[in-house]
Amino acid sequence: MRYASHVADLVGNTPLVQLNTVTRGVRATVLAKVEYFNPGSSAKDRIAKNIVDAAERDGLLGPGGTIVEPTSGNTGVGLALVALQRGYRMIFVVPDKFAGEKVAVLKAYGAEVVTTPTSVPPEDPRSYYSVSDRLAREIPGAFKPNQFANLNGPRGHYETTGPEIWRDTDGRITHFVAGIGTGGTISGTGRYLKEASSGAVTVIGADPEGSIYSGGPIHGYLVEGVGEDFWPATFDPSVVDGYERVTDAESFAMTRRLAREEGLLVGGSSGMAVVAALRAAKSLPSSAVVVVLLPDHGRGYLSKLYDDDWMLDHGFEVTPAGTTPHPFTS
Ligand code: PMP
Repeated sequence: MRYASHVADLVGNTPLVQLNTVTRGVRATVLAKVEYFNPGSSAKDRIAKNIVDAAERDGLLGPGGTIVEPTSGNTGVGLALVALQRGYRMIFVVPDKFAGEKVAVLKAYGAEVVTTPTSVPPEDPRSYYSVSDRLAREIPGAFKPNQFANLNGPRGHYETTGPEIWRDTDGRITHFVAGIGTGGTISGTGRYLKEASSGAVTVIGADPEGSIYSGGPIHGYLVEGVGEDFWPATFDPSVVDGYERVTDAESFAMTRRLAREEGLLVGGSSGMAVVAALRAAKSLPSSAVVVVLLPDHGRGYLSKLYDDDWMLDHGFEVTPAGTTPHPFTS
């Protein structure tokens, strides 16, 4: 019989899928690494597993322990899966602006959720950061993964995402494109691919307009999970050969096309990464193999970028469902 002994053991080994219609006019092969095939529906399952494994090895987390992390999203789900497998209590600290579906998902996995006011500065004792630090200090046996500083995050991608892409492309990958949040994905995967190819793979960072990584003025944007206003320890910029700046409008339009044309219901940061990948691929020959990483599933965004009213309310254009010309006949 062939089966996993626990769902948390199914992290990784996500497939590569060719993009067929959004790539019209591009000669290079463009392959998407679809991370929603992870059991928690995102790439964050990988870092959750690696961070918890390392904490157990280092004696920072053991029987009866508690995982405390400020997260409202994918990292929380990944940590919850691993915590369930190993019997840890989990407490996630979430700013109140994220109330709703994402918090409901964490609660569905049995996590305790502590909400904090969004509109206080980080040093305020009520803030997301302060409350999670206090809980980690006060609860005996508590461990805080600290995803923006924990180098076991990027290491998880170095040990799994990179080798999977190298193996599945038979070493023919020429370009790797990914968004940057903590920087774990691009730093770990990019470093592995550069080493495996003796420097031949080009690594491109996709960055929302308004984020710090690609330069230019820092301002708010709506795409979630990527871009920052500070440089996290988990991001190694020396791995990145170049950046593509992508607007929210471009990211959301492409995300909706990925669902309608390619059948890939993914999050907004996936659309952003594909916009960057296509810009890079445009000038490449047919021998090039571009791999773009799609971090998460689109179900968490149904009431946002997949909702026509939400799009219009935020000033974006929409193509109503049913009016998209058939990609192979138009
Ligand atoms: N997209 C989404 C939806 C995310 O949650 C994240 C993680 N913050 C990223 C992209 C970026 O991944 P990383 O943190 O590895 O840079």
